[in-house]
Amino acid sequence: MRSYLSILIFSILVTGCTTSPTGRSQLMLMPAGEIDQMGVQAFTNLKKETPVDKQAVTNHYVQCIANAITREVGGTWEVVVFRDDAVNAFALSGGKIGVYTGLLKVAKNQDQLATVIGHEVAHVQAHHANERVSQSFAVEQGLNLISAAASPQSGAGQSLMGMLGVGAQYGILMPFSRIQESEADMLGLDLMARAGFDPRESIQLWKNMAHSGGGQPPEFLSTHPSNSTRINDLIARLPHALQLRQLAQQRGRHPNCK
Ligand SMILES: [Zn+2]
Repeated sequence: MRSYLSILIFSILVTGCTTSPTGRSQLMLMPAGEIDQMGVQAFTNLKKETPVDKQAVTNHYVQCIANAITREVGGTWEVVVFRDDAVNAFALSGGKIGVYTGLLKVAKNQDQLATVIGHEVAHVQAHHANERVSQSFAVEQGLNLISAAASPQSGAGQSLMGMLGVGAQYGILMPFSRIQESEADMLGLDLMARAGFDPRESIQLWKNMAHSGGGQPPEFLSTHPSNSTRINDLIARLPHALQLRQLAQQRGRHPNCK
Protein backbone atom coordinates (compact mmCIF):
# COMPACT_ATOMS: atom_id res chain seq x y z
CA MET A 1 0.00 0.00 0.00
CA ARG A 2 2.71 2.45 1.02
CA SER A 3 4.72 1.88 -2.16
CA TYR A 4 1.58 2.10 -4.24
CA LEU A 5 0.75 5.46 -2.67
CA SER A 6 4.24 6.76 -3.23
CA ILE A 7 4.05 5.71 -6.86
CA LEU A 8 0.75 7.54 -7.01
CA ILE A 9 2.17 10.69 -5.44
CA PHE A 10 5.14 10.49 -7.79
CA SER A 11 2.82 10.20 -10.74
CA ILE A 12 0.80 13.19 -9.56
CA LEU A 13 3.99 15.22 -9.51
CA VAL A 14 5.05 14.00 -12.92
CA THR A 15 1.80 13.73 -14.86
CA GLY A 16 -0.79 15.34 -12.60
CA CYS A 17 -2.24 17.65 -15.16
CA THR A 18 -2.08 17.34 -18.92
CA THR A 19 -3.87 18.79 -21.91
CA SER A 20 -6.37 16.86 -24.01
CA PRO A 21 -6.14 16.85 -27.82
CA THR A 22 -8.77 19.62 -27.90
CA GLY A 23 -6.74 21.79 -25.51
CA ARG A 24 -8.74 21.09 -22.35
CA SER A 25 -6.79 20.59 -19.13
CA GLN A 26 -7.16 17.11 -17.65
CA LEU A 27 -6.46 15.53 -14.29
CA MET A 28 -4.25 12.54 -15.04
CA LEU A 29 -3.04 10.57 -12.03
CA MET A 30 -2.49 7.09 -13.41
CA PRO A 31 0.68 6.07 -15.22
CA ALA A 32 -0.28 5.32 -18.84
CA GLY A 33 1.22 1.84 -18.60
CA GLU A 34 -1.17 0.91 -15.80
CA ILE A 35 -4.21 2.15 -17.67
CA ASP A 36 -3.07 0.09 -20.67
CA GLN A 37 -2.66 -2.95 -18.44
CA MET A 38 -6.19 -2.51 -17.07
CA GLY A 39 -7.58 -2.23 -20.60
CA VAL A 40 -5.82 -5.42 -21.67
CA GLN A 41 -7.07 -7.23 -18.55
CA ALA A 42 -10.66 -6.03 -19.06
CA PHE A 43 -10.54 -7.20 -22.68
CA THR A 44 -9.27 -10.65 -21.67
CA ASN A 45 -12.20 -10.98 -19.27
CA LEU A 46 -14.73 -9.86 -21.88
CA LYS A 47 -13.43 -12.42 -24.36
CA LYS A 48 -13.92 -15.15 -21.77
CA GLU A 49 -17.44 -14.02 -20.91
CA THR A 50 -18.94 -13.09 -24.28
CA PRO A 51 -19.11 -15.36 -27.33
CA VAL A 52 -16.76 -14.22 -30.08
CA ASP A 53 -18.13 -14.10 -33.62
CA LYS A 54 -15.83 -16.06 -35.93
CA GLN A 55 -17.67 -15.48 -39.22
CA ALA A 56 -15.09 -14.52 -41.83
CA VAL A 57 -17.31 -12.05 -43.68
CA THR A 58 -18.27 -10.08 -40.55
CA ASN A 59 -14.74 -10.10 -39.15
CA HIS A 60 -13.24 -8.99 -42.43
CA TYR A 61 -15.71 -6.09 -42.67
CA VAL A 62 -15.16 -4.85 -39.10
CA GLN A 63 -11.38 -5.33 -39.29
CA CYS A 64 -11.19 -3.41 -42.55
CA ILE A 65 -12.90 -0.38 -40.99
CA ALA A 66 -11.06 -0.56 -37.68
CA ASN A 67 -7.70 -0.93 -39.42
CA ALA A 68 -8.33 2.14 -41.57
CA ILE A 69 -9.15 4.16 -38.43
CA THR A 70 -6.31 2.90 -36.24
CA ARG A 71 -3.79 3.43 -39.03
CA GLU A 72 -4.37 7.16 -38.37
CA VAL A 73 -3.45 6.89 -34.68
CA GLY A 74 -0.71 4.25 -34.93
CA GLY A 75 0.06 1.40 -32.57
CA THR A 76 -1.10 -2.19 -32.57
CA TRP A 77 -4.80 -2.87 -32.12
CA GLU A 78 -6.69 -6.10 -31.54
CA VAL A 79 -10.22 -6.08 -32.95
CA VAL A 80 -12.83 -8.59 -31.79
CA VAL A 81 -16.44 -9.01 -32.94
CA PHE A 82 -18.69 -10.19 -30.11
CA ARG A 83 -21.82 -12.19 -30.93
CA ASP A 84 -24.33 -10.21 -28.91
CA ASP A 85 -27.50 -8.34 -29.86
CA ALA A 86 -26.53 -5.35 -27.75
CA VAL A 87 -26.10 -2.21 -29.86
CA ASN A 88 -22.64 -1.44 -28.53
CA ALA A 89 -18.93 -1.10 -29.19
CA PHE A 90 -15.93 0.00 -27.16
CA ALA A 91 -12.24 0.71 -27.36
CA LEU A 92 -9.82 0.24 -24.48
CA SER A 93 -6.40 1.66 -23.80
CA GLY A 94 -3.81 -0.98 -24.50
CA GLY A 95 -5.04 -1.22 -28.11
CA LYS A 96 -8.30 -3.16 -27.88
CA ILE A 97 -11.52 -2.69 -29.87
CA GLY A 98 -14.75 -4.64 -29.39
CA VAL A 99 -17.77 -4.46 -31.71
CA TYR A 100 -21.06 -6.22 -30.90
CA THR A 101 -22.97 -7.79 -33.79
CA GLY A 102 -26.09 -5.89 -32.65
CA LEU A 103 -24.40 -2.64 -33.67
CA LEU A 104 -24.10 -3.84 -37.27
CA LYS A 105 -27.89 -3.55 -37.65
CA VAL A 106 -27.81 0.12 -36.61
CA ALA A 107 -24.57 1.21 -38.30
CA LYS A 108 -25.74 0.41 -41.80
CA ASN A 109 -22.63 1.06 -43.89
CA GLN A 110 -18.85 1.37 -43.52
CA ASP A 111 -19.00 5.13 -42.90
CA GLN A 112 -21.53 4.74 -40.09
CA LEU A 113 -19.55 2.00 -38.39
CA ALA A 114 -16.42 4.14 -38.85
CA THR A 115 -18.28 6.89 -36.95
CA VAL A 116 -18.69 4.64 -33.92
CA ILE A 117 -15.18 3.16 -34.05
CA GLY A 118 -13.70 6.63 -34.58
CA HIS A 119 -15.64 7.91 -31.57
CA GLU A 120 -14.45 4.99 -29.43
CA VAL A 121 -10.82 5.30 -30.46
CA ALA A 122 -11.05 9.04 -29.77
CA HIS A 123 -12.03 8.27 -26.15
CA VAL A 124 -8.79 6.28 -25.88
CA GLN A 125 -6.73 8.86 -27.75
CA ALA A 126 -7.95 11.56 -25.34
CA HIS A 127 -7.18 9.38 -22.28
CA HIS A 128 -10.74 9.57 -20.98
CA ALA A 129 -10.42 6.38 -18.91
CA ASN A 130 -7.37 7.74 -17.13
CA GLU A 131 -9.26 10.94 -16.44
CA ARG A 132 -12.25 9.06 -15.03
CA VAL A 133 -10.10 6.80 -12.85
CA SER A 134 -8.16 9.86 -11.65
CA GLN A 135 -11.30 11.80 -10.80
CA SER A 136 -12.72 8.98 -8.70
CA PHE A 137 -9.41 8.12 -7.12
CA ALA A 138 -10.06 10.42 -4.19
CA VAL A 139 -13.00 8.17 -3.32
CA GLU A 140 -11.30 4.87 -4.06
CA GLN A 141 -8.02 5.82 -2.41
CA GLY A 142 -5.61 2.99 -1.81
CA LEU A 143 -7.52 0.58 -3.98
CA ASN A 144 -5.38 -1.74 -6.03
CA LEU A 145 -6.92 -1.07 -9.40
CA ILE A 146 -4.83 -3.58 -11.30
CA SER A 147 -6.14 -6.43 -9.19
CA ALA A 148 -9.64 -4.96 -9.42
CA ALA A 149 -9.35 -5.22 -13.22
CA ALA A 150 -8.65 -8.93 -12.83
CA SER A 151 -11.86 -9.53 -10.88
CA PRO A 152 -14.60 -7.63 -12.68
CA GLN A 153 -17.34 -9.31 -10.64
CA SER A 154 -16.15 -7.71 -7.38
CA GLY A 155 -17.49 -4.34 -6.31
CA ALA A 156 -14.23 -2.54 -7.02
CA GLY A 157 -13.84 -4.43 -10.28
CA GLN A 158 -17.31 -3.40 -11.42
CA SER A 159 -16.75 0.28 -10.82
CA LEU A 160 -13.42 0.04 -12.59
CA MET A 161 -15.11 -1.58 -15.62
CA GLY A 162 -17.51 1.37 -15.62
CA MET A 163 -14.64 3.85 -15.65
CA LEU A 164 -12.94 2.00 -18.50
CA GLY A 165 -16.18 2.20 -20.49
CA VAL A 166 -17.18 -1.48 -20.50
CA GLY A 167 -19.43 -1.49 -17.44
CA ALA A 168 -22.64 -2.28 -19.30
CA GLN A 169 -21.46 -5.87 -19.59
CA TYR A 170 -21.57 -6.05 -15.78
CA GLY A 171 -24.73 -4.03 -15.28
CA ILE A 172 -22.82 -0.89 -14.35
CA LEU A 173 -23.82 2.21 -16.28
CA MET A 174 -21.24 4.90 -15.96
CA PRO A 175 -21.87 7.37 -18.77
CA PHE A 176 -19.03 9.40 -20.18
CA SER A 177 -19.33 13.05 -19.20
CA ARG A 178 -20.81 15.59 -21.56
CA ILE A 179 -17.38 17.11 -22.09
CA GLN A 180 -15.79 13.75 -22.88
CA GLU A 181 -18.65 12.82 -25.20
CA SER A 182 -18.45 15.92 -27.34
CA GLU A 183 -14.65 15.68 -27.37
CA ALA A 184 -14.91 12.09 -28.64
CA ASP A 185 -17.48 13.20 -31.23
CA MET A 186 -15.22 15.92 -32.63
CA LEU A 187 -11.98 13.91 -32.52
CA GLY A 188 -13.76 10.82 -33.81
CA LEU A 189 -15.24 12.70 -36.75
CA ASP A 190 -11.83 14.06 -37.72
CA LEU A 191 -10.35 10.61 -37.32
CA MET A 192 -12.82 8.82 -39.59
CA ALA A 193 -12.51 11.61 -42.17
CA ARG A 194 -8.71 11.36 -42.08
CA ALA A 195 -9.10 7.64 -42.77
CA GLY A 196 -11.13 8.53 -45.88
CA PHE A 197 -14.63 7.71 -44.62
CA ASP A 198 -17.59 10.01 -45.31
CA PRO A 199 -18.17 12.19 -42.23
CA ARG A 200 -21.69 13.12 -43.42
CA GLU A 201 -22.79 9.59 -42.53
CA SER A 202 -22.14 10.36 -38.85
CA ILE A 203 -25.38 12.36 -38.78
CA GLN A 204 -27.40 9.39 -40.03
CA LEU A 205 -25.63 7.06 -37.61
CA TRP A 206 -26.71 9.09 -34.59
CA LYS A 207 -30.25 9.30 -35.97
CA ASN A 208 -30.32 5.51 -36.44
CA MET A 209 -28.98 5.11 -32.92
CA ALA A 210 -31.73 7.28 -31.46
CA HIS A 211 -34.42 5.31 -33.29
CA SER A 212 -33.12 1.83 -32.56
CA GLY A 213 -33.99 -0.31 -29.60
CA GLY A 214 -37.79 -0.22 -29.99
CA GLY A 215 -38.52 2.25 -27.19
CA GLN A 216 -35.52 1.24 -25.08
CA PRO A 217 -32.37 3.25 -25.73
CA PRO A 218 -29.55 1.11 -27.12
CA GLU A 219 -26.84 0.11 -24.68
CA PHE A 220 -24.39 2.37 -26.48
CA LEU A 221 -26.40 5.51 -25.70
CA SER A 222 -26.59 4.63 -22.01
CA THR A 223 -22.83 4.91 -21.70
CA HIS A 224 -22.38 7.47 -24.50
CA PRO A 225 -25.28 9.80 -23.72
CA SER A 226 -26.58 11.90 -26.55
CA ASN A 227 -28.05 15.34 -26.25
CA SER A 228 -29.88 17.72 -28.50
CA THR A 229 -26.72 19.55 -29.47
CA ARG A 230 -24.80 16.47 -30.66
CA ILE A 231 -26.07 16.52 -34.24
CA ASN A 232 -25.83 20.31 -34.50
CA ASP A 233 -22.24 20.20 -33.26
CA LEU A 234 -21.40 17.51 -35.82
CA ILE A 235 -23.01 19.52 -38.62
CA ALA A 236 -20.96 22.54 -37.57
CA ARG A 237 -17.80 20.44 -37.75
CA LEU A 238 -18.63 18.89 -41.15
CA PRO A 239 -16.90 21.44 -43.41
CA HIS A 240 -13.63 20.87 -41.55
CA ALA A 241 -14.09 17.08 -41.62
CA LEU A 242 -14.91 17.10 -45.34
CA GLN A 243 -11.69 19.00 -45.96
CA LEU A 244 -9.78 16.35 -44.02
CA ARG A 245 -11.45 13.66 -46.08
CA GLN A 246 -10.51 15.37 -49.33
CA LEU A 247 -6.88 15.50 -48.22
CA ALA A 248 -7.11 11.84 -47.20
CA GLN A 249 -8.41 10.88 -50.60
CA GLN A 250 -5.53 12.75 -52.21
CA ARG A 251 -3.24 10.56 -50.08
CA GLY A 252 -4.96 7.49 -51.53
CA ARG A 253 -7.29 6.77 -48.60
CA HIS A 254 -10.33 5.18 -50.26
CA PRO A 255 -11.67 2.59 -47.80
CA ASN A 256 -13.98 0.09 -49.44
CA CYS A 257 -14.96 -2.29 -46.64
CA LYS A 258 -17.60 -4.91 -47.41
ZN1 LIG B 1 -18.61 8.19 -26.11
